[in-house]
Amino acid sequence: MSNDRIVIIGAGMAGAATAYFLAERGRRNLCLLEKEKIAGTQSTGRNAAILRTMIPDPLLNRIACTSAEFYLRPPEGFSTEPLVERTGVYLAAGGGHVATLDSWCEENPENGQVPVDHSVMYNRIPILAPGLTRVTHKADDGVMDVHAILQGFIRGACRQGAELLLGREFLGLRVAAGRLEGVETAEGFIAADKVVIANGGWAAAAHLFGPYALPFTPYRRHLMVTAPLREVDPRWPVVWIVGEEFYFRPESGGLLLCGCDAVKVAPEQGAVSDPAELEKTAAKAAHWLPGLADTRIARSWAGMRTFVPDDLFVIGADPRLEGLFWVAGLGGHGITCAPFIGRLAAEWITTGGSAHPAAADLAPARLIG
Ligand SMILES: Cc1cc2nc3c(=O)[nH]c(=O)nc-3n(C[C@H](O)[C@H](O)[C@H](O)COP(=O)(O)OP(=O)(O)OC[C@H]3O[C@@H](n4cnc5c(N)ncnc54)[C@H](O)[C@@H]3O)c2cc1C
Repeated sequence: MSNDRIVIIGAGMAGAATAYFLAERGRRNLCLLEKEKIAGTQSTGRNAAILRTMIPDPLLNRIACTSAEFYLRPPEGFSTEPLVERTGVYLAAGGGHVATLDSWCEENPENGQVPVDHSVMYNRIPILAPGLTRVTHKADDGVMDVHAILQGFIRGACRQGAELLLGREFLGLRVAAGRLEGVETAEGFIAADKVVIANGGWAAAAHLFGPYALPFTPYRRHLMVTAPLREVDPRWPVVWIVGEEFYFRPESGGLLLCGCDAVKVAPEQGAVSDPAELEKTAAKAAHWLPGLADTRIARSWAGMRTFVPDDLFVIGADPRLEGLFWVAGLGGHGITCAPFIGRLAAEWITTGGSAHPAAADLAPARLIG
């Protein structure tokens, strides 16, 4: 029996953006299901909030640039706050990694990244260790207000009648005689014609999907924030050291530091910190910011970045079951790229496909042998 309901599993950035763009397309009877009591507490609330449009993969690079336009000029009424603080981003490389940075720039000539002399970066950020000889700068990138973005998407969807059900855990799909009937939750069955899987790292929980599981893998990454530091200017850009897997930016009067660790985990372990990984980040920080080696770490945490084998997003219909859609595998770019992701997902869900040149590259069908 058709009830025309769409259930979206997960109220992180993927689910929220999908709901927003479905509502914008006039789609009603939307239900956003979230297992936590608050939306956005998993990867969406645990990331570095960096808008970095220079992504080496040219497809993701274009998606990031398109999405940044939404954040820099959001629709009227989306948020009362600016969504991006345009601090700029420096990509910097030294030694053998210069060629890597050069190739990123060559492969993405439309990105708007501008080469600068390394002395410009060192004059602004004198605490940075020497050795970085190639530097590019993108002025419009910077730090996103993730909370304002998430709330903008959820509020926009709910204004059009979408229902946000918090504390409701999805337990599996109900399929009878090859037809999708809806979802089982800890509080009972919800009938739906269409189900959108946007549950972040839990997309890897194969038992939830039975024969429709896809090869997602969550990787844990840590972030740490120093105590406030006299040496830090809060207007500094993000600094991303290419090839060395280390980045930092101002945060709460100190610095947010990331050693780009990536350890495969089960989703339940995605937010559990590993002291050994935190020590590795501290060692990288001591190398690149030697004057701060003895600085106190005020807080640290971990979160998941979830990938499929080709590292591209998974957006679109599952050809094995009519009515099943995926918006997952957003890796390390899910906040930056959410406007494009939500738009493409909404197009798939409402029209059954997309003519966008990226649609086939991102479609779940590519993962089904
Ligand atoms: C350390 C770190 C740094 C990062 N830095 C950046 C960055 O600087 N810029 C950037 O663009 N991206 C960054 N990312 C990536 C970004 O955070 C993710 O791509 C994005 O948050 C993924 O969003 P999501 O909605 O898919 O997942 P999530 O935010 O995890 O949302 C999934 C939601 O589904 C819910 N859920 C799970 N299972 C169920 C269930 N059974 N029933 C109901 N609900 C369920 C979860 O509770 C969660 O709320 C970073 C990630 C990490 C970990």
